[in-house]
Parts: sequence; C-alpha cells; structure tokens
Amino acid sequence: MLLTLEYAQLQDKEDSLKRFREEFYIKPNSIYMDGNSLGLLSKRAERTLLESLNDWKEHGIDGWTNGKHPWFFLSEKLGEMIAPLVGAAANEVIVTGSTTVNLHQLVATFYKPEGTRTKILADELTFPSDIYALQSQLRIHGFDPDTHLIRVKSRDGRFIEEEDIIEAMTDEIALIILPTVLYRSGQILDMKRLTAEANRRGILIGFDGCHSIGAIPHSFSEWGVDFAYWCNYKHLNGGPGSVGGLYVNSKHFGTAPGLAGWFGSKKEKQFDMEHYLTPADSAGAYQIGTPHVLSLSPLLGALEIFAEAGIENIRAKSLNINQYLMDLINQDLHDFGFTIGNPIDDIRRGGHVSLEHKEAARICKALKENGVIPDFRAPNIIRLAPVALYTSYTEVWEVVQILKKIMTEKQYEKFKNEREVVA
Ligand SMILES: *Cc1c(COP(=O)(O)O)cnc(C)c1O
Repeated sequence: MLLTLEYAQLQDKEDSLKRFREEFYIKPNSIYMDGNSLGLLSKRAERTLLESLNDWKEHGIDGWTNGKHPWFFLSEKLGEMIAPLVGAAANEVIVTGSTTVNLHQLVATFYKPEGTRTKILADELTFPSDIYALQSQLRIHGFDPDTHLIRVKSRDGRFIEEEDIIEAMTDEIALIILPTVLYRSGQILDMKRLTAEANRRGILIGFDGCHSIGAIPHSFSEWGVDFAYWCNYKHLNGGPGSVGGLYVNSKHFGTAPGLAGWFGSKKEKQFDMEHYLTPADSAGAYQIGTPHVLSLSPLLGALEIFAEAGIENIRAKSLNINQYLMDLINQDLHDFGFTIGNPIDDIRRGGHVSLEHKEAARICKALKENGVIPDFRAPNIIRLAPVALYTSYTEVWEVVQILKKIMTEKQYEKFKNEREVVA
C-alpha cells in the first residue's frame, strides 16, 4: 500500500479521538512531536490552574478548604483521577512530589536490607536520575553502590530482555526498580511477568512509569506490583514541573514512611499538631510536606480529558499512529541511513518512535528549523512521539516529508552534530 497524503487525511477523518485536538494549544506552522517529554497545554488545564489562582484571590488561607478545588484534598482527589490509568484503587495513588523524590521516598520506605538480601536490582539503560537516587540510598545504608546496585545488561544497547532480569533476581536482591517503558527505545517491559517472578522470590518490585502513564493502560494492583512512581508532565500534559505521582499496593498500607512529614498524616489528625505521626491508611501516607498547589491544579483539567477519551482508546490510536509513522519511515526514508530502534511488536512498544541516525543531533536541529519539534537523546536517537490526543496523521505524513527533504538536501550539514543544554 502506498502511504499517501490522502491516506493520512482519511485516517484523520475516521479518528474517534479527533475532537480532543482542538482542546490543546497547538502552534500554527509547527508540528509538535515531543509530547513524550513535555505534553502540550490544554484549555482545560489552563482553566483549572486559573481557578486555583482565583480561589487564592477570593479566599486567601480559606482556599485550603473552600473554593472550587479545596487545596487540602487536591492530592487525594487527583490520585483518585489517576487511579484508573494505572489500574489501582483510588486510595492506592497519590499525586505528590516528583519522580525522583518519590523514588527516594519509596526506597526509603521499602528497601530493608536483611542478612544476605542487601542488593538493589535495576538495569543499565535506566534514566540516570533513578540510578543516582538508588546509589545515594545505598550509601545512606552504608553500602557501596558499585557492589550493591546490580544493573542488568542490555544485549544490544536498546532493549532489556525479561529473561536476563529474572536470572538476576537472586537471593541477594532486596528490591527491584525498573522502568515500565524504556525512555530511549520505548520498549515496554513485561510488568506482569516480572512482578510475578519477583513476588515468587519474595523480592519487592517497583516501577518508574514516566513513559507509560497516559500512553498505555496498566493493571498494577491486579499484577501485584508493590509500588510505582512517575511524572505527570509527559503524556499526561500536567505542565512543566507538574507534581508527580506514586502508587503503593494496599497490602503495604501501614508500612511507616521512610521519609515522614505532616502531610502524610491521617487528614483529620494533621492539625492536632502532635509530635507523633498518625499516617494515613492509604498512599497518602507517603506525602511529605505542603503540596505545590499551582503545579497540581492544571492536572485537574488535563485528567478530565483522559477520563473522557479512555485510556484503551488512547492506546489504540497511539499504536496505530506510531505504526503509521514507522511504515512511512520504511517507505520514504530507507535510503538515508535511519534505523528504527524501538520494538516492532505492539505488546512491546510504548508511545514513541525511536529513530536512530549517526547525525541525529543535527538532524533534530534541522527539524526544528523546519517547524518540527522532536527530541534528541544522545548519542544518536531522534524521539518522535505522535500523541493520540493531539497529533494528526497528516502531521505525521508532513514530518516524514520534511525529514526526507532535510536528508535529500543535506540541510543538517549546516549545524554542529552536538546536543543543546536541554536536549
Ligand atoms: C522524565 C523522567 C524522569 C524525571 O524525573 P523528575 O524527578 O521528574 O525530574 C525520571 N525517570 C524517567 C524514566 C523519566 O522519563
């Protein structure tokens, strides 16, 4: 089949999610392919942020309990809204902290080295911040990260094989931390299988959901995942520096927070101001201090859209539009030295295409000059994320035509092949 512009236009016409595109601020003459790094602003997210500002204007301190979105309950309310996206009960999710802070909290809470079970298992392709957090947590416990942080090796630099992870689940491992979706290659790890294997060995397992939340469905509770954490500014469109999220399986409710603070209190006890903490019987126990209300509020609107669109529909379109991008790349770009570096099978690929090229850094700069916003991951990856809620098939078609022009005309040669400060 020839993948023509007409084909893209037909796909757009039949797209059951197309009405959501007009909810987002999309710049004219620009194609945004970076929703996996920072999702776009929606009108609803803008509205709920302004409503919180207005509550401040109108109510001052009483905004905590009055006003349109009482701030004292906002983290719990948002947890309830995110719960269906991760497959958890409402009280197993709380919106708090950030990815890295929540990882620190969860490791401080659930990493309990005992006897010969003292090591933490991760993988060598994991996002660096997670590794830094794990190394520092090991040091706090008096262990050397060089011997106590085991990183499962990748066979090809792109993917991690589940078998290799399972083989590394030895009786020296106390805790496993893995990504749901690898940030470079977009590989989905088989969370259900890995969790079952970890549970069977009595090892706790937690997942970093940054690249899957809002892009793919999860069943954390059903799978028996112990805990998870993620950011809300990527596929969930919560805004730059948006407050993160964490999930704790209800079987762990009552486990004292490793890093305690007064916002982890039972709501009705918090203002008793006692000097012993009565933690909430929920994921709320793992909050630390006062929530960042203005970085929480856009999520109220952003998450309404997910509830209306449905995560299963979002996943279906995401698979289809990413497949379309891969098919176009195969059809139109095969002569230019690109390699598709994400998994091809639907069950193994996440929400973005990982396009590899040795000139990737400067091809990205040429894309930007042509009005396409990709992102670059060193040393050789162009990540392109057609997002179900706001990317059209026609845009995907245009991106590939622009790439073809950049390569044919060697437009990238006028740029340096090195990354910017924020890549
Ligand atoms: C984006 C991302 C982070 C970012 O962590 P922050 O604490 O939000 O800065 C961490 N881990 C992964 C896998 C990510 O993709």
